[in-house]
Amino acid sequence: MINRFINYLKSIFTGSDKTSLKAMTNLILFGPPGSGKGTQAKHLMEKYNLLHISTGDLFRYEIGNKTELGLKAREYMDQGKLVPDEVTIGMLENKINANPEVAGYLLDGFPRTIPQCEALDAFMVSKDQTVSGLVALEVNDEEIVQRLLKRGETSGRPDDSNEEVIRKRIAVYNEETSPVYDYYKKQNKSHTVDGIGSEDEIFNRLSTTIDSLL
Ligand code: ADP
Repeated sequence: MINRFINYLKSIFTGSDKTSLKAMTNLILFGPPGSGKGTQAKHLMEKYNLLHISTGDLFRYEIGNKTELGLKAREYMDQGKLVPDEVTIGMLENKINANPEVAGYLLDGFPRTIPQCEALDAFMVSKDQTVSGLVALEVNDEEIVQRLLKRGETSGRPDDSNEEVIRKRIAVYNEETSPVYDYYKKQNKSHTVDGIGSEDEIFNRLSTTIDSLL
C-alpha cells in the first residue's frame, strides 16, 4: 500500500507517464537452505501473481543444458559454496529483463551476499522500482540438516546428499547470507516468519506478513 502510494506521488512530481506508474510487488523470500522457500514460493507466486525467480533453479537449468555458465556454477554448488557474485547478478538481471510485463518478482535464493543486495537495489532504481520487502523463514540448523538429507533421498541434487556439503551450506548462510537480513532491516523492510509447522500454516503466516507490505 505504502509503496503504491509513494510510486503514485513520484509519478505526479516527475510527470511520468502511465508506463512508469506501474507499482510492482517485488518480494525477497529469505531463509537458510531447506527452510521451505521453494515450496512456499509456488503458493505465493499464484496468490500474488508474481514471477518466481529461483537462482538455484536457474543454475540447475544451466547445468542441465551443460552451458558454460552451468559448468562454472556447478564447481561451486557441488562444494556448497556460493557462485561468484558477477555470474549470479548477471543471470538474475537477464531473467528480469526478459520478463518485464509482470506484476512483480518473487526472488528466492537472491540476494545472498551484500554485493548482491547493492546490485539489486541499483538495478531496481534503474527500473524505477523498489524491493517491497524481505520475508525470512526461521528454521533451526538441526531441522535443516534433517530436511535436506531427506530431500536428498529423492531430489537427485548432489548438494543434498552429503552431510558435509549441507553443513558447509549452512555455514555459508550464517557467514555470508544472514547479513542480507540486516541490510534490508536498515531499510525497515525485513520481516520474520516461523518456518516450523504445516505447509498451510506457514503459507498463512507468510500471507499475513506480505499483505501488511502491500
Ligand atoms: P538451497 O536454498 O536449498 O541451498 P538453492 O537452490 O537456492 O538451494 O541453491 C543451491 C546452490 O546454488 C547454492 O548452494 C549456491 O551454490 C547456488 N546459488 C543459488 N543462489 C545463489 C546466489 N544468489 N548467489 C550465489 N550462489 C547461489
